[in-house]
Amino acid sequence: MKQYECLVPGCQWHTQADDPAEIVRRAADHLRSVHAEAEVRPEMIDRIKQRIHAAQAAQ
Ligand SMILES: [Zn+2]
Repeated sequence: MKQYECLVPGCQWHTQADDPAEIVRRAADHLRSVHAEAEVRPEMIDRIKQRIHAAQAAQ
């Protein structure tokens, strides 16, 4: 299981999924809908990927 916390400072949004591609998809949707990011650019995708990490078991 992988985990990701939103890269926007102060945002508490996070998600977990087995597939990193699914996390990237959800994170892109989140940026568009919550942070009004009209276009999620490739460099933003790279930043999202860099922030994906293994989920802690005890959560
Ligand atoms: Zn956010």
